[in-house]
Amino acid sequence: MYALTVSEKFFRGEPFLVVVPDTLEHDIRPGCMVLLSLKKGNGTVSIGYILSLKAEPDGESSSNIEISDVLYGGRPVLNHSLLQLTEWMADYYLTRRIDTLTCALPAAVRTTVHDVVEMTGFALNAEVTKIINTALRRSILKIMTTEKRLTIPQLQRRLGKKQLYRTLSELERGGHLLLTKKFSSTTPKQKTAYRLCNSLSEETEPSLTNSPKQLEALHALASLSPEFVFPETIDASRETLNILVKKGFAEKVQREVTSNFSTGFSEKPQALRTLTTSQNQALDQLRSAFEKQEYQTFLLHGVTGSGKTLVYIEFLKTVLAAGKTAIVLVPEIALTPQTAGRFREHFHDDITILHSAMSNQEKYDAWHSLRLGKTKIALGARSTIFAPLDNLGAIIVDEEHDAAYKQDRNPRYHARDTAVMRAMFSKAICVLGTATPSFESYHNAHNGKYTLVNLPERIDGATMPVISLIWMKDNPKASASISELLYRQIALRMGKNEQVILLQNRRGFAGSIFCLACGHIPLCKFCNIPLVYHSTQKHLRCHYCGHTKPYTASCEKCSSTELFFKSSGTERIEEELQTLFPEEKILRMDVDTTTTKGSHGRILKEFHERKARILLGTQMVAKGLDFPAVTLVGVLMADIGLNIPDFRASERIFSLLTQVAGRAGRASKPGEVYLQVYNKESDVFTALLQGNYEKFFLQESAIRKELLYPPASRLIKFECTSEDEKQAEAAALLCKETLVRHLPAESGRLLGPAPAGIAKIRNRYRYHVLVKLISGKLSPPFIKQMSDDITTRFRSAGIIFTIDVDPQNLM
Ligand code: ADP
Ligand code: ZN
Ligand code: ZN
Repeated sequence: MYALTVSEKFFRGEPFLVVVPDTLEHDIRPGCMVLLSLKKGNGTVSIGYILSLKAEPDGESSSNIEISDVLYGGRPVLNHSLLQLTEWMADYYLTRRIDTLTCALPAAVRTTVHDVVEMTGFALNAEVTKIINTALRRSILKIMTTEKRLTIPQLQRRLGKKQLYRTLSELERGGHLLLTKKFSSTTPKQKTAYRLCNSLSEETEPSLTNSPKQLEALHALASLSPEFVFPETIDASRETLNILVKKGFAEKVQREVTSNFSTGFSEKPQALRTLTTSQNQALDQLRSAFEKQEYQTFLLHGVTGSGKTLVYIEFLKTVLAAGKTAIVLVPEIALTPQTAGRFREHFHDDITILHSAMSNQEKYDAWHSLRLGKTKIALGARSTIFAPLDNLGAIIVDEEHDAAYKQDRNPRYHARDTAVMRAMFSKAICVLGTATPSFESYHNAHNGKYTLVNLPERIDGATMPVISLIWMKDNPKASASISELLYRQIALRMGKNEQVILLQNRRGFAGSIFCLACGHIPLCKFCNIPLVYHSTQKHLRCHYCGHTKPYTASCEKCSSTELFFKSSGTERIEEELQTLFPEEKILRMDVDTTTTKGSHGRILKEFHERKARILLGTQMVAKGLDFPAVTLVGVLMADIGLNIPDFRASERIFSLLTQVAGRAGRASKPGEVYLQVYNKESDVFTALLQGNYEKFFLQESAIRKELLYPPASRLIKFECTSEDEKQAEAAALLCKETLVRHLPAESGRLLGPAPAGIAKIRNRYRYHVLVKLISGKLSPPFIKQMSDDITTRFRSAGIIFTIDVDPQNLM
């Protein structure tokens, strides 16, 4: 028998054929992880993956590589749909097969250095002699009976033999041994958790009136009773809680720190809901498609506050009831604790929430429990699309428009598109949900690839917020960046004890200068893109052509000295707000205030509990928050992101502003939104004021069609970087010339080579070649060949050549 195999160590990570030894013939299946070694080598082994098996070779098989052992007892680490998916990825994203496989498996699964063998309790000696007949099995058991627990390398040394996995797996199957992974971790395994005692008397509360902290902790514990909670979950100190324990009001235990998802944010379980008519209609469509057991993708276009989450949840109940499994993708878990929490509330132990703060051990355990089918739903960010679930019934991609779904390192896959493909391979239903569909998805809904489902209204007849523009040039100001008008609106809400969210939009603002008086942004006279302020040299510099000009502390247009150039302006705005509203507590949420673990959740919790009435932040405050008391949303520099040289600039701004506007008036009280704008009389705003996504889409699509940008074409970006600028350019030129010969004129256009938007990063010059593909595709073997040629030709210049299919970032 022959196996098509792939390994980082051989054939540049591309598939090759090897002979399967007779002894392993029954243990090896497609998707298995194996150990490979060189026949005449020094015994070092490498990890490989079996792609497929063949009775007869369909090409030459490698004569010097052999499969020496099989891991995980021959149980595939990649199931059939994941093998298909990673094959598709390699082909579509023009990347190596091995890269797509390693990307689909957590690092903890791919290493063997942490493997350990443990003796199970009931391996009686009598039984051992009866079952164990080979010498190797006998020696393993003999050693293990005394040692109880060894790492695989230890065992290999003791036995002087490398190939142990297969035999160990057999012993594991016989119930003698346990083969697992143990990762040492720096985080403590155990932490103290607290909860309220069951038998509290009526005097408990009054006895604490003089200790506000203890009282607050008591209330916090009560709200989560009878759960044991960690101090940080309720924002209480260990000391305070220990006093409660001493007084006999609370009890504590040592709790294992598990992968239990906790972001520091929690809300009370919501009461049971009856679905609205629109929700029911949407759900019916999803359910009847699901019953057909065929692949289908839906674009669930629901305005903000239309109750998409509940539709997902009800649909997944159907999926689980049919004995199937599901994947839920969210852009970033720490930023959307409410969504994750609501899923947890419905599915309890049936759901595994995967997040980046998990340790290796937790990641391994989570992966393992999904693979064994112990949990049925995997929820998490981008890479959760590779969850090792069998029998997949549905994939939900929440906020499908979010750019976080695109991975900006190799393999540069888009998790939304990968989700659609996985659903297709698994004959599952894919649901892409959003209030502002990406143009790609909306285009696919228009041309029938996806089925459009609308949720046009907010829950409970709540009205969509009314959006107004504030022209900063014509309006008096209350402070440097806040208009009189916005100020009065905020004051109005404070008077009614309502809440306000303020967004300091800083997208596309990295380092450029902005005049707060007239809105002027200094541009490069050669390239027409914003100049970047360099504080050390005190000059403005174009990152495109290198042109510089001295920095004068006043606006070149209106001479105002109110210039804004910090990359994060939230701190300054917080000060302005504090001066305007000295009595108010202001919560600020930006990269500076959310660096520590759980801080994001804590800020949201305070806002949720209405300990503050103003929340000010960057893009983070635009995402998925659902707070009923918010009646006003203000955006401070709403038009700033329109200046960046990216064809998606308008789409991103439209989506960001729609999302943040959607935080207002989600319950019975209507919401209002004020956008402070300085420059643009842009079409974006006209459509935004009308809340008309369709109109905006048609408008923008016309432009994209004319310029041949997606969705009118598919982009592929080739990048050459080097410390030597001439060489980087020469390599890009070779790339272009090669592509010209390959690409028939009618199937696409070629742009470049040109310096990248950010021409130099970390001392490396960057040159781009862009392909706009109208039809057909680039041939992966051809591109591979080109990539090899370029890296070989320019080896001495240290060229790094990368390919980005469907790039989200053209800078
Ligand atoms: P979206 O994600 O579409 O912006 P959400 O899913 O956050 O909206 O729902 C908005 C709010 O409406 C949430 O507080 C949710 O609990 C509530 N909600 C959803 N469906 C219903 C319903 N059928 N009846 C009452 N409230 C609902
Ligand atoms: Zn320039
Ligand atoms: Zn000015």
